[in-house]
Amino acid sequence: MKCELMAECKLPVKFSRACEVDMKSFSYNGRPEEVIALIHKKSEIAVNEVPLVRVHSACITGEIFGSQKCDCGYQFKQGMGKICSTAYGIMLYMTSHEGRGIGLNNKIRAYQLQEQGANTIEANEKLGFPADARDFSAAVAVLKFLKVDRVKILTNNPEKIKVLRNNNIEVVEQVSLSAELNQFNKQYLLLKQNVLAHRFQHFLQETSVF
Ligand SMILES: [Zn+2]
Repeated sequence: MKCELMAECKLPVKFSRACEVDMKSFSYNGRPEEVIALIHKKSEIAVNEVPLVRVHSACITGEIFGSQKCDCGYQFKQGMGKICSTAYGIMLYMTSHEGRGIGLNNKIRAYQLQEQGANTIEANEKLGFPADARDFSAAVAVLKFLKVDRVKILTNNPEKIKVLRNNNIEVVEQVSLSAELNQFNKQYLLLKQNVLAHRFQHFLQETSVF
């Protein structure tokens, strides 16, 4: 399992606030640009400072196309806002995680099955994929490359915590993200909370649709 730093530069960004991050592109097992790390690190931080880390799965529909079917765009912006507000924060953007790891074409096919009544898990399974096909080993490898063995994890997803702990990365704190429920994402977000045990910042209620 080979993780290699391919390129790096500074990038000024602006979310809820502006900050400068170090952008580092990593290949993993020969796959180029597998993980893009956006690192915000103030120079005066303590040596043992534990970073706030988000492992974020790419979602072109949610982040670029403004899809209301998921919360990925909202979570990415919220996550970057928090990372920019803290002394040491790391966003790991997983470029091959589109559609929970099944790719964009299959995600579109899964959305079509959802139009016919399947939920997100059933749709993936009908296409012959597991409910979640994502592999987080590249994220673990990049954290090890960055010499990060303790994290405050920015996620609602208990699976991500399990993966890190199973790979000897200590999770000292879980920081949850909030969600904005709408009529299009309601079923998906409630499934995340009630079936996949995601812990949102505020418990989502069936009735809390704007
Ligand atoms: Zn999404």
